[in-house]
Amino acid sequence: MKELIPLIKSPIQNIEEALFLEKGISVDILREDLNHLTIQGNKLRKLHYNLLNAQKKGNKTILTFGGAFSNHIAAVAAAGKEYGFKTIGLIRGEESLPLNSTLEKCVEDGMELHYIDRTTYRIKHTQDFKDYLRNRFGVFYLIPEGGTNYYAINGCMEIIEDYKEYNFICCPIGTGGTVAGITIANNQNSTILGFSALKGGEFLTKDISDHIQSVTNDQELTKDLMTSFELNTDFHFGGYAKFTEDLLIFVRNFYTKHGIKWDTIYNGKMAYGVYELIKSGFFPKNSSILLVHTGGIQGVKGIEERNNIKIYED
Ligand SMILES: *Cc1c(COP(=O)(O)O)cnc(C)c1O
Repeated sequence: MKELIPLIKSPIQNIEEALFLEKGISVDILREDLNHLTIQGNKLRKLHYNLLNAQKKGNKTILTFGGAFSNHIAAVAAAGKEYGFKTIGLIRGEESLPLNSTLEKCVEDGMELHYIDRTTYRIKHTQDFKDYLRNRFGVFYLIPEGGTNYYAINGCMEIIEDYKEYNFICCPIGTGGTVAGITIANNQNSTILGFSALKGGEFLTKDISDHIQSVTNDQELTKDLMTSFELNTDFHFGGYAKFTEDLLIFVRNFYTKHGIKWDTIYNGKMAYGVYELIKSGFFPKNSSILLVHTGGIQGVKGIEERNNIKIYED
């Protein structure tokens, strides 16, 4: 088996804007979207120690769950191909043919796909369902939907290992595993700003605290670490995977100006939010701000297919 470290150290890219000069702040982007050739972004970080653990336990098969456009499903399939695991993806909902670009790539990467109806999908974490899966698929290493577990959070701690000097670190949130890892590793050096990609994401503070607690195993430390974390729920653009014309214009302009693509599910919303906060004077003068680009570019095609639009021309 190949070594499981990211092939490429994620570069830091400074962004220049008249707005930043005017407000006296600096903005850098941590290009985690470039951290690996085939499995990119935070999903690689989340898989890293899971793959090592599966390998250590002698598991040859990885089974996981996700929606039909999931970055996590795509990452597990790519990792299976890259590192020699058989992969099984249990996809929420009905099969729809032809396969969308995400699932087509998963099949190309050797993933076995099965579909589970939405009612069953909701009970996927119960012991009964796990027993059923073990009967049906035999021995496997289970990774939850979205990839967040103890090992994933440990992997995400490494994202900001070398970047703790910023005043603010900004990151998009789905399950909160990524931002939990960042908050732990940052050890209260910065303010960690998490932007919910979901509507009604107020519950995430509790989830993130629970994620942190799963690693620290110390309530007082968890509480201390959480004082550096701030949840922002203002930039969900209508809900998960939803978007507005404004958001599209923002990500397109950003790409034209700076040559960096944001996905519209997670990073585009975070970056849009950061720009709005900058305009409103949220960040004190002389603040240094780091945006963690968590990847997700594979999902752009899926959004385009589903909505019959083109986000980027190339
Ligand atoms: C999954 C994902 C997230 C959310 O990560 P969580 O750890 O679930 O909060 C953010 N950005 C991208 C690109 C993702 O694929």
